[in-house]
Amino acid sequence: MLNAYERCNLCPRKCLVNRLNGQIGFCKETAELKIACAMKHFGEEPPVTAIGGSGTIFVTGCNLHCAFCQNYQISQRGMGKFISIDEGVELCLKLQESNSENINFVTGSHAIPTIATIIEKAKLQGLKIPVCWNTSSYENIESLEMLSGLVDIWLPDLKTLNPRIAQSVFQAPDYPSVAKKAIRWMINHTENKFVALDKPTEISEYQNTTSILEKMISGVIVRHLVLPGRLGDTEIVLKWLKDNADEKACISLMSQYTPVNFEDNNFTQKTERENSLKAFQNRLLTKKEFDEIQKLISIYDFSYLFYQELDDDTGWLPDFSRPQPFSATLAHPVWHWNN
Ligand code: SF4
Repeated sequence: MLNAYERCNLCPRKCLVNRLNGQIGFCKETAELKIACAMKHFGEEPPVTAIGGSGTIFVTGCNLHCAFCQNYQISQRGMGKFISIDEGVELCLKLQESNSENINFVTGSHAIPTIATIIEKAKLQGLKIPVCWNTSSYENIESLEMLSGLVDIWLPDLKTLNPRIAQSVFQAPDYPSVAKKAIRWMINHTENKFVALDKPTEISEYQNTTSILEKMISGVIVRHLVLPGRLGDTEIVLKWLKDNADEKACISLMSQYTPVNFEDNNFTQKTERENSLKAFQNRLLTKKEFDEIQKLISIYDFSYLFYQELDDDTGWLPDFSRPQPFSATLAHPVWHWNN
């Protein structure tokens, strides 16, 4: 499986570089796995967070590079530490020991062969909790096949179905067609399954689920982050999800879009990013927009939907240079690149 890095076409970017020899492509990572941090995370959707929190592993690098990425320090600036496959296995088992509900790999599309090997070995060494795949959905089916039978819960984004936005914000005009195909594959390979929790738990961030009674052990949750000033694009996404994912997957509407202040000494990169953000209004959502979202929610009437409260608090924005990148209520760190 690791030979896939040799002329890398693991994702639709098809860079064809030899990552085994230390070359890098669009994702900026060689074949060595780099991790930024691992933690029990309490901000995922209620049946994924459940009681113990999601055992989240933040992978360094990314094959999409959204101009607005809140995790840009690790996705685009390389913050993290190289780890071996055995250290990855140890990390999974440590998160399980700390009573995490699942193992949740965040943005690992460019490292699928290594992560698949880690999951396989971890399962042989006693990993029992479900494994989640938290992804932008900019993924080839051939690469997803490597995760077949290893991942239980798929957490794909459907960021936009507008090729013009996809080009300006992440230089990937094919994102809509690639993401639709990837999400269809995930839905066809997974059944939504839940188990009852011993006691209901309170989660206030999601408006329609202040109290949850069950946790997910397999299935698909498709996420859509509403972009300010682009509600028309959101409606197109919701229509596609209604026709293709309703009743087969849960839908998660996120209203947390927050402009990120990029600390970047590279003037060209900073300017490119800022120019990309001009494709939309790069601000918090307004109350008026949030009310419009409520209307869309009632029109489309999904069978299983989460949506976030509108919140103008930006204190949750992560800083991965800190041992605690989030707030103490949102995350309990287990491992950090700088420790
Ligand atoms: S995984 Fe990275 S190197 Fe490979 S094709 Fe995608 S962006 Fe290029």
